[in-house]
Amino acid sequence: MTDSSATVRPDRRAELAAGLAQVRARIADACAVAGRDRADVTMIAVTKTYPAGDVLALAGLGVTDVGENRDQEAAGKAAEVAAAGVSPRWHFIGQLQRNKARSVVRYADVVHSVDSVRLARALGTAAAGRERPLDALVQVSIDGDPARGGALPGSADPGVGLEPVAEAVADSPTLRLAGLMAVAPLGWAPERAFARLAEVAEAFRSVHPGAVALSAGMSGDLEIAIQYGATHVRVGSALLGMRPTLR
Ligand SMILES: *Cc1c(COP(=O)(O)O)cnc(C)c1O
Repeated sequence: MTDSSATVRPDRRAELAAGLAQVRARIADACAVAGRDRADVTMIAVTKTYPAGDVLALAGLGVTDVGENRDQEAAGKAAEVAAAGVSPRWHFIGQLQRNKARSVVRYADVVHSVDSVRLARALGTAAAGRERPLDALVQVSIDGDPARGGALPGSADPGVGLEPVAEAVADSPTLRLAGLMAVAPLGWAPERAFARLAEVAEAFRSVHPGAVALSAGMSGDLEIAIQYGATHVRVGSALLGMRPTLR
């Protein structure tokens, strides 16, 4: 191996193993408290700002799902990990510009951040060359602030209304409408945010019964997200350590 970033020192591996054990215990406890089956919650290790070697080490510890939020960083990392013969499921969780769709569909298995009809169409077109449909989650704005991203529940806006965006995904033969994603808005208690999200998700599933994924909860609020039905939690800092910069 020529690229030293794809190897990990034993002390780093031990650090990751300890973080992973803690996060797994938190998820198991939260499932027990909520009366939910542990198998119904998938942990996505959010590896943004951390090197490919950390992804390989986590995969070696049994992590199957990895999340990234910037295409430029993720594309190279995914290639390095693939070159090492390891193939986790890659989740793209960050704000996505349409001109990056073509790159993202090459390595991503799931895109969590579809929040406009235009982005859904760009992804649908870009995914045409894939062997399998791309799983797409519609990102929901919990506080209805369109400036911060997320489709708007209850809005018929033809560009960013939740239902028009979901229809654009569902109508695309190259995308599979898998469910919803959200981030708790700044300044909202997680209980309030995820209770609201659970209502939106319940209404959504009555229209789209196959779209059962609910991606919610991060290092600081994963227990509350699980209490309110999250099927995917996106965990970065609790697993890998504090990131040097906010991204
Ligand atoms: C970075 C990020 C996370 C992980 O956040 P932590 O607080 O480090 O667990 C989850 N979701 C999204 C969309 C992110 O960008």
